[in-house]
Amino acid sequence: LWVTLEGGDGAGKTTQAAALEAWLRQAGRAVVRTREPGGSEVGVLIRDIVLHHRGDIAPRAEALLYAADRAHHVETVVRPALARGEVVIQDRYLDSSVAYQGAGRVLDAHEVRELSLWAAKGALPELTVLLDLDPRAARERLDAADKPFDRLEAEKAEFHERVRAAFLALADAEPDRFLVVDATRPPLDIATEIRERVERVLTA
Ligand code: C5P
Ligand code: MG
Repeated sequence: LWVTLEGGDGAGKTTQAAALEAWLRQAGRAVVRTREPGGSEVGVLIRDIVLHHRGDIAPRAEALLYAADRAHHVETVVRPALARGEVVIQDRYLDSSVAYQGAGRVLDAHEVRELSLWAAKGALPELTVLLDLDPRAARERLDAADKPFDRLEAEKAEFHERVRAAFLALADAEPDRFLVVDATRPPLDIATEIRERVERVLTA
């Protein structure tokens, strides 16, 4: 089983990934929790570029960096884990690229998706949880967390509005793969909803 979590910064992806991992482990399953960008050694280097480079990165170059991270990650981490029969819980995947490099950077969303699919040899998760949150609420959470912003978190509000709309459109287009959750709900309630859907996928 391969589950990805998507949504804007501050939506609670990491919290929910951890909760899902703990629950699955208690149920006796082997779990690999990973993320993009940065889920492999090469990916850690790429993550440092896309998050911490000072100054602009040409949008197509940025898209290719995420795609390179993805190609290496799927090949060396995700596919081997799935082949071993383990559950992969992944913070961000190609929907993030369609939303951020596509709608956010205004590249062609279809081209960005095709680029990612090429990078990942067409691999798609069984379930994608979209934690949907108003960017203004997300901004308040990030401010409260009192961490320095990375390059993307510092983007202006319209950027994050476009990203949110793109995520919702993706979920609309693939309702079988997506579970859309209102990220303002209590974390425990969200965890329960995700669990119920995962159980259904596991027994399908
Ligand atoms: O979720 P995480 O903190 O790992 O994401 C790192 C940053 O990279 C975030 O600010 C996110 O907006 C950005 N990102 C992106 N395109 C992707 C994946 C992440 O712009 N495909
Ligand atoms: Mg973040």
